Parts: sequence; structure tokens; C-alpha cells
Amino acid sequence: MSDQKRKRVLVFEAHGDDMEFTSGGTIAQLADRGHEITLVVATDNDKGSFELTADELRAARDRELHGAAEMLGVRQVICLGYPDGELQEQAPLHVLRGQFMRIVREVKPDIVFTWDPFAPYEGHPDHRAVAMAASEAASFAHYPLYAPDQIEAGLEPHFVGEQWFFAKSPRDQNKFVDISDYIEKKIDALCRHESQMVLTVQELQMGLKASGLEVPGLTDRDAHDYREVIDQRGNVVIVVSPSEKLGQVVVPAQ
Ligand SMILES: [Zn+2]
Repeated sequence: MSDQKRKRVLVFEAHGDDMEFTSGGTIAQLADRGHEITLVVATDNDKGSFELTADELRAARDRELHGAAEMLGVRQVICLGYPDGELQEQAPLHVLRGQFMRIVREVKPDIVFTWDPFAPYEGHPDHRAVAMAASEAASFAHYPLYAPDQIEAGLEPHFVGEQWFFAKSPRDQNKFVDISDYIEKKIDALCRHESQMVLTVQELQMGLKASGLEVPGLTDRDAHDYREVIDQRGNVVIVVSPSEKLGQVVVPAQ
């Protein structure tokens, strides 16, 4: 990407840590190069804990996501507050697409990041919902007859030049970003999500137990002592690696 022009980058995620896990290093690099990052968090993040109540978790994750976003250089965070895990029920596709389209027309991004709407084996319904709504919003925000009430209210149609998708499956990776200079910042940002790092270690331990495996230093670890596990850079937590994998869609100029 050229450093000559300051670009606006709009990230749509379901949960407060989606961006950090999948593209935290890339986002930090973009912010460091002067590009403007806006983050949209669709849900209230109140399901991912074995220890906290929903109210406690919601408050903790709000602090965590804002702290991590600030660390990565995100300019603005927009929280929509839909119930975690219930996005598809609470915001049907056309509703969420319209809401995202309004944000696209307000922020006027050059690049939209989101989950891959066509990713195989994506198990989380919130990820699927955000992915499809964000991709559709980014693909059609320049058509004035989509959500014409927004145009009548004074917003302008906006053309999004590029869509970058968080890639989980190796099959769908076609863009690799070297984040060697930003991996420490990515790990630091991930560790700001304390509740989710604890959860990550606990789930790793559950997976090991279910598989009948023992990993020294992990199997019996206190999950609150998570930093070293997250810092394994690919040995255990595959999302923390020296490069981030993205699927990229460049929409041809029309
Ligand atoms: Zn998520």
C-alpha cells in the first residue's frame, strides 16, 4: 500500500477482540503509517467467560476493547451493543446491512476489513452475520437507491475500493502481511483483553483434555497466567504469528 495518501480504514467486527486476533498487527501498521482506523463492534461481548457474570463481563470487555484499540492506534470506536451470540436474531441481515451502510457512508472508508462472509467452517453466528452484512454494505454503499432514506437525509453514496477479509482457513489466504515489527504490539493489545486471554487458555486446556493430551506448562497452568501462552507466536496460539493472513477483494473501479 502506498504511504502517499492517508487512507480511511473501517473495521467491522462482531466481538471486541476479533480484530486483534486476526489483524491486530496489520491495523497497528496501518495506523502507524498515518491511516485512519475506525472500528465498529457489533455486540456487547457478554458471553465469553466461565468466571464473570454477564454484567461484569460486559463492563470488563468494554474497558478491554477500548484499551486495546487505543494501543493499536484506532481513531474511533463505535459500539452497537447487540446481544452477544444473538446478532442474527436481533439484527436480521437487511437491518444490519442498512446500519453498516450508514456507517460506511458516514466514515467514507477506502478499505473495509471484516470477517470472510464465504469462510468455510465458520462456527460463530455473529461472525457470519457481521461478515455478510459488512461485505454487502461495502459492496453497495455507492448505489443511491440502496437505503435511499440515508441519501434523502443528506448522506452521500460512497464507493469502497477494497475489502479485506480475516482469513482463518489456509485455503482462503491470499494476502500475507509481514507484522514482524508489530507483533509485540499485537500481543500487548491481545493481552489487554484479559478476560478473553483467560478464556483462550481455558479453552486450549479443554481441547487438550478432550483429546487426552498433556502439554507441559499449559495443561495445569493457571489460566490467569496467560501472557507466556499468548506469546508463543504460533506454537500454541496459531493466530499470533509473524504474518497475518487475509483474504483480499479489490473491487474494480466502475
Ligand atoms: Zn468473535
